[in-house]
Amino acid sequence: MFDDQRSKKVILVLHCLLNQNARIEGCAYFPGAMGEAARAVVDSGVGILQMPCPELHGLGLDRRGRMRDGTDIGIREALLEGEGQKACRELARQVMDDVNEYRKHGFRIIGVVGNDGSPACGVDTTHYVDGERAGAGAFMKVLREELEKVGLDVPFVALRDHEWGERAKRLRALLEAAAET
Ligand code: SF4
Repeated sequence: MFDDQRSKKVILVLHCLLNQNARIEGCAYFPGAMGEAARAVVDSGVGILQMPCPELHGLGLDRRGRMRDGTDIGIREALLEGEGQKACRELARQVMDDVNEYRKHGFRIIGVVGNDGSPACGVDTTHYVDGERAGAGAFMKVLREELEKVGLDVPFVALRDHEWGERAKRLRALLEAAAET
């Protein structure tokens, strides 16, 4: 079944890899897709599952300054409580619906691409209200939990703003490893 031209390999990518319009004001660095990293994914022949942008869905496009009692609580914190948290969980479940459907038919999920420093999509580092530190972003944290629930252990790769060349190399390495198997 599905014995046609498709690769039957799928990578989960953060939304703004292909659409920088979703970025918070002041943090879009490309007119559309994320340059070299986006080209690497497109050229690889792996299917691209563009995940929804959790900040856009949970907090809107104009999302600077998430206030509670007159204090800025930060984007990550806002996504870990109330409506923001509900949005993250719901989006992760939507992604998992697709993941589970692909797996049911023997497709392989080769990895997840996030962006370090992002309050939602950071993999190894994320942005707290007082700055960047180690830890996963609010959405990547939930997504990892959902993947673990179905016993799916896939590599997470992090891009990073201003380190596009070096991070794109890591992504290429993942794509090349997937092409060999
Ligand atoms: S929340 Fe994630 S997908 Fe949305 S703009 Fe930030 S890094 Fe990109």
